[in-house]
Amino acid sequence: MRRHTILSRLFAFKNHINYPINRSIHTMKTDKYPLDAPSLEELAQKLKPALASNYTHSSVSVETCPDLRKSPFHLATEGLTRDERIADVGGQPNLFPSPRLECKYSLPALAQAMEMDPKRGSLIGAGAGPFHVLGTNSELAPNLNWENGFEHINNQTHFAKINKPDGKVSVQKCPSTDCALMINLFGSAGLPGPVLKITARGRTGSFKSFSECIRHALNAAYGDERPISLGGAFVIKSGRSHYHVMPDFPSKPFESAKQLNEWLTYHDFEAPIVCLSVLHSADPGKAMGLRMEHTHCFSAEGENKGGHYHYDEGGDVEYEAYFNTAKAIYRIDRPEVTLERDLHD
Ligand SMILES: [Zn+2]
Repeated sequence: MRRHTILSRLFAFKNHINYPINRSIHTMKTDKYPLDAPSLEELAQKLKPALASNYTHSSVSVETCPDLRKSPFHLATEGLTRDERIADVGGQPNLFPSPRLECKYSLPALAQAMEMDPKRGSLIGAGAGPFHVLGTNSELAPNLNWENGFEHINNQTHFAKINKPDGKVSVQKCPSTDCALMINLFGSAGLPGPVLKITARGRTGSFKSFSECIRHALNAAYGDERPISLGGAFVIKSGRSHYHVMPDFPSKPFESAKQLNEWLTYHDFEAPIVCLSVLHSADPGKAMGLRMEHTHCFSAEGENKGGHYHYDEGGDVEYEAYFNTAKAIYRIDRPEVTLERDLHD
């Protein structure tokens, strides 16, 4: 690393609110990968046995999406249908071994990079919050839609951060449509239409994570060569679940993944909690450098519950989920290096 780069990063650690460089639609490299998505009916049949073996009660069906703007989901968008696509933007190498604070993104610019229709659309997912706006690193649950242009945004995005004085989690509505470092997004026109409805209750199996249970079932059904990519939302209706929230950036680079895992803060929260999720069953030959699963959560009741979903604590946990398939993946501003695996479990 050249000397001036090190100096500018050290400067950035101290003054990250005013760090000047931003990623724009003109400077982000975007690769598009079309997907061959099976029918929702076929997916429902493939998923049923995996859910049944992990939970005492489960169902998988194809149904018309309920209005997801209503309780308990509180999404900005009514549905998850038409022009369905997924973006994987930046990545964990933008955090490890040292945060690349020049990687700041605008969600409307990412929607443009995803070739979304400015007339109407929505984005949901999981990523890192806009530290340059919020003054601290955070977990972002992007949740927004637009009509008649990307400048007309209904922003229902939440972020979870660590309060510096007491170390407690704070979950709030995000005043910005920016994000940073890495983000995984499911985009659609946001219309009502057929989707996968998955319910599960009473976990008895070994997949502690609901989204990983679905992801592994897809991988088992379709193998390592055919990626099936889903995006959607689920509500944890009962039970206790485990999350992490990134604290503010460290004062020096991480020396190991173990050190990064010790830097993260871990929390258990009782339901209800809303989760926004993006997952892929495969990344053949790591050609796309994808993060395979990413789920961020928030309390719709204004409670300080949220962050990066890891898994439930079992027992009386209950899930209700709506997912749709992506028809293309947009790999945007991919870091030069690809990590062998997720930095955390
Ligand atoms: Zn996360």
